[in-house]
Amino acid sequence: MKLFNTLNKKVEEFIPNVEGQIKMYTCGPTVYHYAHIGNLRTYISEDIMEKGFKFLGYKVDRVMNITDVGHLVGDGDSGEDKMLVASKREKKSSKEIAEYYTNCFFDDCKKLNVRKPDVVSNATDNVDMYIKMISKLIEDGYAYLSNGNVYFDTNKYADYYKLSGRNSDDLMVAVREDIEEDSAKKSPFDFGLWFTNSKFNNQELQWDSPWGRGYPGWHIECSGISIKYLGEYLDIHCGAEDAIFPHHTNEIAQSEAYLGHKWCNYWVHLGFLNDETGKMSKSSGEFLTVSLLEKKGYNPLSYRYMCLNSYYHNQLTFTYDILDSAQKAYYKLKNKISKLAHDKVDEDIKNSYIDKFKAAIEDDLNTSNMITLVYDVLKEDTTDGTKFAIIEEYDKVLSLDLTKEDTQEVDEDLEKTILEKIEERKEAKKNKDFSKADAIRDELLVKGIKLIDTREGTTYELVKD
Ligand code: AMP
Ligand code: ZN
Repeated sequence: MKLFNTLNKKVEEFIPNVEGQIKMYTCGPTVYHYAHIGNLRTYISEDIMEKGFKFLGYKVDRVMNITDVGHLVGDGDSGEDKMLVASKREKKSSKEIAEYYTNCFFDDCKKLNVRKPDVVSNATDNVDMYIKMISKLIEDGYAYLSNGNVYFDTNKYADYYKLSGRNSDDLMVAVREDIEEDSAKKSPFDFGLWFTNSKFNNQELQWDSPWGRGYPGWHIECSGISIKYLGEYLDIHCGAEDAIFPHHTNEIAQSEAYLGHKWCNYWVHLGFLNDETGKMSKSSGEFLTVSLLEKKGYNPLSYRYMCLNSYYHNQLTFTYDILDSAQKAYYKLKNKISKLAHDKVDEDIKNSYIDKFKAAIEDDLNTSNMITLVYDVLKEDTTDGTKFAIIEEYDKVLSLDLTKEDTQEVDEDLEKTILEKIEERKEAKKNKDFSKADAIRDELLVKGIKLIDTREGTTYELVKD
C-alpha cells in the first residue's frame, strides 16, 4: 500500500505499527456552521481511505473529534472562538449550536454515503484528558504559565518544523499573517494549551483546572482525543492541507513531548476544493452546501462521483459545468448497471477484477482508476451476473449506490425550483425569447429533469439517461 506522507513529502510504502491493523485519526468539523462541499470533499476522501483499507483486509480503528470549543477564528491563538461567533449570530447557546450543526454534518455525510467513524467524540467531553496532558507538559518543562494562560514552549521541541518543512523564517511569515502578537508568549510560535485569561469576553464554556477556570486550546483537543481512544502509537492522521500548520504541527509537538516518542508515522493531507475565485469559504461567495446542490437538482452522489474522479492530494476547482458532466456520467453509468441481468457469475473473472481494484487502492488510493475499472468491467466479455457481482464489490469502497435501484423522489424544494423554472420558461416563450426558453429546458435536462409540453401545460419527468 502506498500513500502520500506529508512527513517525508512523497508517496511511500505504508507499514502499520501492528500488522493488519490500522489506527486512524481524522480531524472532525468545527460545528459552528453548515459544512460546505469543500469540507465534505475531505470527509469523502477519508471515507474512501477507511473503506479502501478494509477492502484490503485491514482492521481499521478510526476516531474523529467534533470541535465544539476552542477553535479560534484565526486557526492559531487569534480571534474569537468560532462557537461564540455562532452563538451571537443565532442567539443560541454553544451547546445548542453544536448539537444542531453536528446533526446537519452527519445528515450531509449520510447523503454522500460517508460512513460515520466508530468513535466520534466531542472536544468538550474530554477536558480531563487535556488537563492530564498539560500538567505533564508543564512538569517536564515543555509548557509554561504566563499571564494566566498555559503555552507550549516550541523552543523545547527540536523537531517543530518537521511536518511543515518550513524553517523558522518561513513560519515567521505565517505567524505574522495568522497569529496576533501575544506578549505573554516567549516565542511567537508558542501556542496556547489552556486559557484562563481570555482575550475575548463571555467565553461560555469554561472548566476548572489547576491553572484556574478556563478552556482548552484547539490543538490539544485532537492530541488528547487521539491518544485517549487510539493509544500512544497512531498509524495515520488526516486532515485537509490547511491543517499542516499550525494545527498538525502543534499536535505533533505536544503529543510527542507528552509521550516521549514518535507518535504518528503517516500524515495524509487532503487537497482543497476551490471555487473559481479561490479558496472556498463559508463567509464569502455562494455558500455551497449539499442542500443547496439538492435544491438545484443535483444528486449528492454526483458530487461524490465528481470528487472520486480526482486525486485526493491535489486541489480541485468546483464549477457547475464539472458537476453537470459528473451527474450526466453518473446517471448514465447507473442506468447501464441497472440493465444487467442477474445471471451466472464467473468467479475467475470476478477475482481478477477484484485484484485490479485492490491494486488501484494500493496505488495511493487511485480513485479515478477505480472508476475507470467500473467502465472496464461493463465492457468485459463476460456474463451480466459477473459484471454486477464485481461492481457490487467495488461499491463497498466507492459507495456510489451503483447497484441500488433509485426511488426517484423529488423533495419539496426541488419541486418548487422546477415549477419556478417552468413559469420562467413560459414567460420567455410569451415574450418570444425562445433561446432563453430552450436554455431553461436544457439546464433542467442536464440535471435529469425532462420537461414535457402538453396542451394542458408543461409537466416534467425524471430521467436517468
Ligand atoms: P472546519 O469545520 O472549519 O474545522 O473544517 C473541517 C475540515 O475541512 C478541516 O479538515 C479543514 O481543513 C477542511 N477544509 C476547510 N476548507 C476546505 C476546502 N475548501 N476544501 C477541502 N477541505 C477543507
Ligand atoms: Zn485536529
